[in-house]
Amino acid sequence: MEFMKNKYKCFSLFSGGLDSILAVLHMRKLGYEVIPVFFQTPFFGAEKALKAAENADIQIRVIDITADYIKMLENPAYGFGKNMNPCIDCHGLMFRKAGEMMEAEQVDFLISGEVLGQRPMSQRFDALNSVGKLSKVKDLLIRPLSQKLLADTLPVREGWVKKEEMLDIQGRGRQRQIKMAKEFGISHYQNPGGGCLLTDQGFSRRLKDLIRYKMLTVKNIRLLRLGRHFRLNPNCKFIVGKNNNDNEKINQLAAEGLIFQTVNQPGPLGLMISLAEIGNCEIEQAASILLRYSNKAATEDVVSFGNGTESDQQIKITKMEERSVVKLMI
Ligand code: SF4
Repeated sequence: MEFMKNKYKCFSLFSGGLDSILAVLHMRKLGYEVIPVFFQTPFFGAEKALKAAENADIQIRVIDITADYIKMLENPAYGFGKNMNPCIDCHGLMFRKAGEMMEAEQVDFLISGEVLGQRPMSQRFDALNSVGKLSKVKDLLIRPLSQKLLADTLPVREGWVKKEEMLDIQGRGRQRQIKMAKEFGISHYQNPGGGCLLTDQGFSRRLKDLIRYKMLTVKNIRLLRLGRHFRLNPNCKFIVGKNNNDNEKINQLAAEGLIFQTVNQPGPLGLMISLAEIGNCEIEQAASILLRYSNKAATEDVVSFGNGTESDQQIKITKMEERSVVKLMI
């Protein structure tokens, strides 16, 4: 007689959205050992997912995949969505990472909360197949909420998962998920798809600039959320804080950059990042932009600049005209 384990173990790709919560709870109810995993990057953090998990009495593991994600982002095999969101490759990478962890943890298969036909980009039939191929774990995937409608994968063929216990949810309607949430006693959950910076238009524009000019580092990515950004030349960009909070955070991330500040009047903090040696031309441009954002500074005024290790230097400069500032803005 063939040996059958009495308890199968799966990793769950957990996003914090209702569907991923329901996939975990459904499988748990059926008796599977489910380990929910949240993969984090600077584009989507774990805070919301941790809160959502806590509300549903689920414990999740948070794993940082930033280094692999940045590599993928430079050239995603399936391209980008409306903004810089490489959804198919993003899911594929997460499945691949989960797949790599399976052996060490003696995990039998993977699940996700994906629902057939719910989101145009990443959850269409062909997209689900693409994700599978990309991640090389296609045959180990189970989507509990839609698996009845999907091709059988190894866990079903081997009898580890009974198809009749899986669900047949499809489309964008949320009624069945809301009903399930009530049955599981979950009252608070977030909207699906929220919270990914790669779907934000302004953030995507700045990110595209970083990729184009080969400045894609973790620190530079973190700076994209702060202040106003200007492209001075292919090697050099300049950032100006919008408020005190921006100024403080920019200062904390400024290790290798050149800091600019107004001298005679209060004003924002500026940070120059350059791949090449910084010349007078860039310094004058940056100081002139910075003055534009100090309301109290005179049309001609003094700006200091330095990298924090040497004593600051000063430059007297004229405020840049609004239309010139706009031209340089990313
Ligand atoms: S919206 Fe963001 S986190 Fe979600 S699949 Fe797309 S790229 Fe990944």
